[in-house]
Amino acid sequence: MSRWIYSLAALLAVFLIGLWYTANAQVSGSASQEPISLSYLSSDEPLSLSDIYEKSRADWQPLASNRASFGYTDDQYWLRVQIERKSYDRILHIGYPLLDELNIYWVQSDNVKTYALGDHKPYYERPILTSEFSVPLPAGESGTLYMSALTESSMRLPISIRSETQFFDAQMQKRLAEGIYFGVLLCMAVYNLFGFVASREPEFGLYSLYTLFFGGLMLSLDGLGFRYLWPESLFLQDKGIPIFGSLTFLTAALFAYQLLRLKQYRTTLARGLFIMAGLSIFTLLLGIFASYKVSIHVLLIFAAPGCLYLLIVGAYLWRKGLVYAKMFTIAWGTLLVSVIANSLGYLGVIDSMFIQRHAIMLGSGIEILLLSWVLAVRYSEQRREKLEAQQRYNEELEDNVAERTFELQIALRELQDVNSELEKKNSEDSLTGLYNRRYFSQQLEKEYRRAYRSKVGLCLLMIDIDHFKKINDNYGHFIGDQILKGLAQRLKQSAKRPADVVCRYGGEEFAIILPDTTRQHAEIFATQLVETIRDNPFPTDSGERSITISVGIAELNSLAGQSTESLFKTADEALYRAKRDGRDKVVTI
Ligand code: GH3
Ligand code: MG
Ligand code: MG
Repeated sequence: MSRWIYSLAALLAVFLIGLWYTANAQVSGSASQEPISLSYLSSDEPLSLSDIYEKSRADWQPLASNRASFGYTDDQYWLRVQIERKSYDRILHIGYPLLDELNIYWVQSDNVKTYALGDHKPYYERPILTSEFSVPLPAGESGTLYMSALTESSMRLPISIRSETQFFDAQMQKRLAEGIYFGVLLCMAVYNLFGFVASREPEFGLYSLYTLFFGGLMLSLDGLGFRYLWPESLFLQDKGIPIFGSLTFLTAALFAYQLLRLKQYRTTLARGLFIMAGLSIFTLLLGIFASYKVSIHVLLIFAAPGCLYLLIVGAYLWRKGLVYAKMFTIAWGTLLVSVIANSLGYLGVIDSMFIQRHAIMLGSGIEILLLSWVLAVRYSEQRREKLEAQQRYNEELEDNVAERTFELQIALRELQDVNSELEKKNSEDSLTGLYNRRYFSQQLEKEYRRAYRSKVGLCLLMIDIDHFKKINDNYGHFIGDQILKGLAQRLKQSAKRPADVVCRYGGEEFAIILPDTTRQHAEIFATQLVETIRDNPFPTDSGERSITISVGIAELNSLAGQSTESLFKTADEALYRAKRDGRDKVVTI
């Protein structure tokens, strides 16, 4: 939040310094005004200059201030001032742009010069093109100035007489202040329009419109719109204030509704804002179709409670703890204070040139900057909250995924265990626990290739129990099975190297693969095996039973270029020879 505060402080400082500088220059410039003694009279029916000549001295009242203000009135007001001869050109300036009809009569001893002014006349007909009303008082002339004014706006007649250079100097200072002010307004309108385009958040768009309409209202009040934007449009000059005023209220109500998220809060508050928006549309229509006099009064009657209502809504939500409501209330309050100060200035309660000229500019400038700042902060905070929520969601998702992955890994490991168990079962002979024929074929292929690659020896032993049928016949299959199990055990024990593979090939036939083994070593191994089997009877349920075995050996080396099938066939052939040669022996081919 602090970096936002700094940026706001910097913006306000630039705005205030600029305005302060120009205001100071103007206040010091006001010292350059000639002292004048004004008198006035009012009449409820229009008078001509000749009628005025006939008025007695007593009809004229002296005016204490040269910034006369008479409020809303249908009366015609006349001012009179005696002008002394000066050796330089001077300019008479009436610093209020909203007078409908203003006639100035420059009466000298021998002739009368008449200027018909007022904003009901085209802008370019003015003798000096300023946003307010000015007429030249040439050097060397003296006489009496009469001015008559009629207006549907409030009747204000702030009058000054200055030398030409001082007049234009003061005008330049004023334009500079207005330039800064309207520049800030335009920047904020454009900036928030971009914000709206980028974010699609309606409050940016509404705020941009609000700033534009408020700018339009200020341009109308200052006469600058008539001067720069619609010099040909008497319609807008006449109706600009009620039209822009209504549009300002309309957008202010809708903006408040969006900014303060009134949908979520008390619906009565929201309803109030909609009523305000509806009334604004009504005053807008009045502004367009009714006379200025009617529409401005309706707008003014509605403006005071409307402003107050916005302030109350802001304050209520501020109390509820909505941080943006606090800034909204301060911003809106600043504008209201400046409007009240300005009104008091015109009513003469506060006699300050600065307040009369700059209170509203200052107040509304601060308000516009503050609100734009609130919008930016709010948007950024919302984005941050969204990002944080997204991040939280992502973290949760990651946790979930990690948990699932872990569970999956466990399941996978279990599956692998089951799989290897299955694999083992699949490659095992159920009776003896030795590898089965399927596994034997795989292993033989594998060892055969390895032997070829590494150019090492490989021997295959085929083993068959001699006359095993008799054992089955004499003692039953159960005893036969016990002997098969016992033999399997012994074969396993005798093949000690880890690479040796002992399998039950089928029935009472076994096979042993002896990798990296020469024919001599295989023969020694087989002979020892035959002897051990012969010499060690197997314990069975029907006592000890002796068996003998015959072994056929084939060696890969001597059969270079041949397949596993031929290796197997050779071993089988050797076994067959051992049987034929009387059994209980080893034969190698
Ligand atoms: P030879 O010396 O010529 O090998 O004679 P042999 O009787 O051992 O040969 P033969 O091929 O005629 O008989 C094999 C016998 O092995 C037949 C069958 O009863 C027996 N046999 C095969 N498988 C099993 C088994 O799983 N359990 C038992 N108990 N006997 C089996
Ligand atoms: Mg057999
Ligand atoms: Mg046999």
